[in-house]
Parts: sequence; structure tokens; C-alpha cells
Amino acid sequence: MKAFVLIFTLIMTLDAVAQQSVVVPMKAQTLIDAYPDMHLTYRDNKIVFPDGTEIVYDDGKQKNFVETLDYSDVEDMFSMEYDTTSAAPKYLNDCGRSRSEALFKKMYGSTAAEVQKNLVKIEWFGQQIPITKINGVDKHLTAVYQELKDRPELRKYLLQASSFYWRQVRGANRLSAHSYGIAFDINVANSNYWLWANKGKTETDSIKYANRIPMEIVRIFERHGFIWGGRWYHYDTMHFEYRPEFLGRK
Ligand SMILES: [Zn+2]
Repeated sequence: MKAFVLIFTLIMTLDAVAQQSVVVPMKAQTLIDAYPDMHLTYRDNKIVFPDGTEIVYDDGKQKNFVETLDYSDVEDMFSMEYDTTSAAPKYLNDCGRSRSEALFKKMYGSTAAEVQKNLVKIEWFGQQIPITKINGVDKHLTAVYQELKDRPELRKYLLQASSFYWRQVRGANRLSAHSYGIAFDINVANSNYWLWANKGKTETDSIKYANRIPMEIVRIFERHGFIWGGRWYHYDTMHFEYRPEFLGRK
């Protein structure tokens, strides 16, 4: 009888474990795996931090393209795919421009002062660039620098970089990734930005793509967890941002 109870209990426990792993949505698991330092878990449609803070995973609202950028929940962040294979981004594929503001504020700081507390300076071709130390972003960017520093032929694309500034995206209801200390812009003079070449166009108009940044630079950043703004339909080719959830990192 005892053995029976034991086996029965064991089966029920295994079943509960299996149930639990089944109910964590794949996108939530991808997020959890991408930010191991955060020790995130998933429970009842929430991403949960160790201090008990809960971030809504899926708010259940249908959103158009602009709303997906302005009012992104965690699930919306994964509504587009980070495409490293196409020569030019597909229409309205802006994977990474959607950010759950609640999630990013919790990870990196909810005010300029809070974010600043976590900034450290890293060496970048004679510049001292402030970047967040949360999630090891400073270490990942230093690793990028180590790969680029002995490549004089690439230098003109990399000098005069900029990183942290707390601001709303112009004309939009959301914070720029630069507000969190996770974004990094390389040289403006050798970059292309969608609005420069497509003046007066709105977010859903068809636009023309342009890029001058060598893909070698892009691939180095991507290897260390940074997505590239040149893969966005609304391209911003100077822009890199620490988003390991789209790069298959663990
Ligand atoms: Zn930028």
C-alpha cells in the first residue's frame, strides 16, 4: 500500500511539473532564458521578478502597427521576427522596436536618475561611453570593442559614438531605448535613418531602404547580444541595442 501511495505521488508530481512547463508560453521562456541575471519566472500571464514585481505578459488587446510600438506588452515584443537573412527589411518588420516599458523600467530603472545609478563607463576608441551594467551590457559592449579595436579599416564607422539619453521617441508615446542605457549609436556621418531619406512619410508608408554600415560590424554586435537598427523597416543604421531575446543567446 505504501509503495502504491509513493508511486501515485510520484506520478502526480511529474504530471504537475509537466503541466507547469507546458503552460509557460514559448515567448515568455525565450525572455526568461535571455536574461539569466534577472532570475525571472512566469506565472498566470505574468513575468515575475524575484522581489515579487509582476509584469503583464499578454494584455489580450488587438493592436495595429503603431499601437504595438506604443503600448507593447511582453508578448507583442515577439510579434515580429528578427530577420538576419534578408538584404533589406520586410515591410513593417521592426523587430525590437516594441518594448514593454514596464519590463524595461523594472530591469534598468524607471527614471533617468535610477538608470544613471547603473551606468558605468567603457572604453571606446578613446571615448568613455556610459552604458548600463545591468545584465552585463557593459561587458558585452566591451567584448564588441575588443573585436573591433584592431580593425582600422572599420574605424570611421565607429568613432564619435553616443549612448545614454533619457527621452521619448519624437512624436510617439514611448521611451527611446537610449533611456535605459542599453542602446549605442555609432558614427552618424556614415549612417542612414529612414526619415532622412523619406521626409514626411508616416510609420505605415512604403519607404526606400539605405545602408552604408559594413555587415561585418553588424555581425560582431549581434554575436554579443545587440540587435541592429539597420534590420528595421524603419531603419536606423547607427543604432545597436542589447536585446538577447532575439538572438538565441542563453
Ligand atoms: Zn540609437
